Amino acid sequence: MMTRVSVSIELATWITARIANYPAEAPENLRWHSPHVARHGALPLYAGWTETIGIRPDGEFVRWSTEGEFDGTRSVEERSWVLTALVVGAERYAELRPLLPVRGPDAVDCPCRAIPLFVSGQVVCGECGGLGWLPADRVTSRRGEPREPRRVGWYHRLFGG
Ligand SMILES: [Zn+2]
Repeated sequence: MMTRVSVSIELATWITARIANYPAEAPENLRWHSPHVARHGALPLYAGWTETIGIRPDGEFVRWSTEGEFDGTRSVEERSWVLTALVVGAERYAELRPLLPVRGPDAVDCPCRAIPLFVSGQVVCGECGGLGWLPADRVTSRRGEPREPRRVGWYHRLFGG
């Protein structure tokens, strides 16, 4: 199983160019990713301790080990990680912002917003992926009682599967 978002032709072209030009365009402290980028054909979005998550021009999310723990790429099956990669990646690349989910009127602030470590971005929230909010389905009761927000498997809807 793999995770793929739908990418416009323009964005696919843009990602292809970022991959091709990565050695020249990446900030110096990220340039060591270049061989991985060339080998795996993906633009790095999120660099963890031992693995990096990147997006391919066709919108597929892949991860690879930067510590030699495994060869090649593996799919990103945890959708909160896809979201995290998108949130972090869109901070660096404004072009990726259209891929982020849009906050709906029913959304609620994620509990992580009360925790400075998460707000500062030093730690990425595994619940909202750093978006800072969670969508909620509102359940209407018969007697007009307060409607209770409920978390939904929204990224499953977003990314399919
Ligand atoms: Zn959160």
